[in-house]
Amino acid sequence: KGPDPSIPLINERMADVKHKILVLSGKGGVGKSTFTTNLAFALSFDDSVQVGIMDIDITGPSMPKMTGLEGETIHQSNTGWSPVYVSDNLGVMSVGFMLQNADDAVIWRGPKKNGIIKQFLKDVDWGALDYLVVDTPPGTSDEHLSAVQYLKESGITGAVLVTTPQEMSLQDVRKEISFCRKVGVPIIGVVENMAGFVCPGCHKESVIFAPNTGGARKMAEDMKIPFLGSIPLDPRIGKSCDLGESFLDIYTDSPAHKAYMDVIDKI
Ligand code: ADP
Repeated sequence: KGPDPSIPLINERMADVKHKILVLSGKGGVGKSTFTTNLAFALSFDDSVQVGIMDIDITGPSMPKMTGLEGETIHQSNTGWSPVYVSDNLGVMSVGFMLQNADDAVIWRGPKKNGIIKQFLKDVDWGALDYLVVDTPPGTSDEHLSAVQYLKESGITGAVLVTTPQEMSLQDVRKEISFCRKVGVPIIGVVENMAGFVCPGCHKESVIFAPNTGGARKMAEDMKIPFLGSIPLDPRIGKSCDLGESFLDIYTDSPAHKAYMDVIDKI
């Protein structure tokens, strides 16, 4: 088998992308896609910064809904596939835009997923981007290997790992860390999500995953990776996700907003 003829084409596209950030989690449901969305929204608050979200969670794409673009479709031009835009400087590409029925991709095998990721990297006309934020499926799967393989030459800036404070989730993040180390992806750091809950009524903080307060910070120290911070549970984060709007744009005076921005500042 000779070299993959797509690689030079991917390198050419990616030459216009300054930073490529992968968002990873060991488990599903820890807030990885929510974090991806909010990171991209936050970066795009500066009008001069061009941001793209690439959703390679092929069997469970959540980006169309989380960015308020459900029902949109991708258009093709002579320069490639056009992303769907949230605003002038925030574009999104997801397999969710290509399927009549969002459940269709669930049955795709590895090679088909690999093919679509290759096409996303080769054929999407992002134009010049400052940041490409990549939402990945939970765990480490075909999709991660494909992305890493295709981006090897053009380079990945780094990975952000999202976890909850629960030991079950932390354990799986350790696997993500060893994956990154094995395939040579730099680790930007770990974010602890759903770390506590501030009651909107009485403003008292409750720790939800009680025995493991500080677990993510300790795990990061043990594994010698940066700890980026803790984001509390806030029902408004979930609500904004469901409505496809930016939590960070709306609830600017909440503790969760501050926590999110502190984390994002470190990226
Ligand atoms: P993953 O991508 O890891 O599977 P999601 O980002 O889809 O997880 O998040 C799972 C659910 O938790 C979603 O309904 C989301 O709105 C909600 N969620 C994520 N982070 C928070 C948070 N800090 N506070 C409240 N709800 C959250």
